[in-house]
Amino acid sequence: MSIEQSQSSETSEKLISFRGSQVVESWPKKLKDAQSHKSMDIEGERFIRIPWGEETAEIEEAKRQWTEYYHGHKSLVDNEMRLVKQAIEEKRNKPCSHCRAERGEYHVYLCEMEECPKCHRQALACSCKKELVK
Ligand SMILES: [Zn+2]
Ligand SMILES: [Zn+2]
Repeated sequence: MSIEQSQSSETSEKLISFRGSQVVESWPKKLKDAQSHKSMDIEGERFIRIPWGEETAEIEEAKRQWTEYYHGHKSLVDNEMRLVKQAIEEKRNKPCSHCRAERGEYHVYLCEMEECPKCHRQALACSCKKELVK
């Protein structure tokens, strides 16, 4: 479920236009508050959160798949990776499609685009026990 759907079903809050999409009125503050929580404690270790645009999993996964596809032929893999990175760059230069964080900003906690700094899976879904800290 997208943020927009969950917002409209849970609240009758007014919608406003924010960074090119409709959000509930309280959303910009929520996103602003998210910026003051820079770390997560995960199973006894402190990690700096991964801001929008700094994710590594998507690139690593594409690289793994293309390497497999081309049986490790480096120049072919590099060629594909240039395109992959270009597409990712374009996406990252726009606000996060879910929480509207801009590049370099932290997501609203557990936005589905947030990457876990420990296991690099989706923070929302991974099994690491996380606690948000300042
Ligand atoms: Zn986000
Ligand atoms: Zn994790």
